[in-house]
Amino acid sequence: MHRPFFILTFLLAAASLGHADEGSRYAIAIHGGAGSAPTSFSKEANAERHASMKQALEIGVGILKEGGSSLDAVEAVVTFLEDDPQFNAGKGAVMNAAGGFELDASIMDGKDLSCGAVAGVTTVKNPIGLARKVMTETRHVLLSGPGADTFATEQEVATVEPSYFATPAAKKAWEAARARQQSQSAAPLESSHIIKGTVGCVALDQAGNLAAATSTGGLSNKQFGRVGDSPIVGAGTYADNRTCAVSCTGVGEEFIRRAIAYDIAAQMRYAKTSVEDAVETTLTERLKKGMGGIIAIDKDGTITMQFNTGGMPRAAADSSGRFDVLWAE
Ligand code: ASP
Repeated sequence: MHRPFFILTFLLAAASLGHADEGSRYAIAIHGGAGSAPTSFSKEANAERHASMKQALEIGVGILKEGGSSLDAVEAVVTFLEDDPQFNAGKGAVMNAAGGFELDASIMDGKDLSCGAVAGVTTVKNPIGLARKVMTETRHVLLSGPGADTFATEQEVATVEPSYFATPAAKKAWEAARARQQSQSAAPLESSHIIKGTVGCVALDQAGNLAAATSTGGLSNKQFGRVGDSPIVGAGTYADNRTCAVSCTGVGEEFIRRAIAYDIAAQMRYAKTSVEDAVETTLTERLKKGMGGIIAIDKDGTITMQFNTGGMPRAAADSSGRFDVLWAE
């Protein structure tokens, strides 16, 4: 073969191989809420949480490996964790100051920036599923309170009596939060007061689409009607195929003020910052220590999971064979 022609053929073959690789790449990361260090929990509690995170990761990987969408993966993972009372989302949601439960969730598709969210729902078993319905079945992005609960009934998603969320653990956490807040009424919100965590998931699928989802019961003993960052697209959740998918956890007010999830995407888009550096800068320079944690995946499948609190149950896997559950390590 003529030498330049041979080199050209070789380069073209290498380029197409590169593309094949890219096409089959997937990645996923999960958080189980920023808060106290693993040492604050019993061995058994840590082991149970670890087992759940592992199972959640298996669910997500199963979908992505088979060529499923990142949107389906993040929804399935978050739904699973919502049904697990160990996490502050769905079944395990914490109580508000009125002794009730108001749940928040959001989901976003990085392919076209479509997104859906619900805030302050009281009868929805899996708020993340309802958030997805807001995305696909309405002209809106965010439904709240009674309107969102009514929408759940209309959509025939699973609903429950509010007593479904009234677990002994929720009551215990509520009493502890009330006692703490009475003794230090002017103290600022801190993530170390979060006993069990919000859940979130970000994923890149084989088609190159990013998605993010976050679900929470909010802060324990929060004021009736309070909405945190988790259902606020751009604050607690963001996904854009041009940059990254992000899910946040921590003191929601701080994440809303700084539009944290969008800011990470913006750092990447406008300043060409890497996903790791964008998240690190955010957690060291924009958010005070103890305020929370962030998981993110960029469009090439790079995963980062960072926090400035005592701990954050987290897990990550990708198509290279990585499969890590990091809690109580
Ligand atoms: N970010 C959530 C909120 O403020 C709480 C959490 O992540 O634990 O509602």
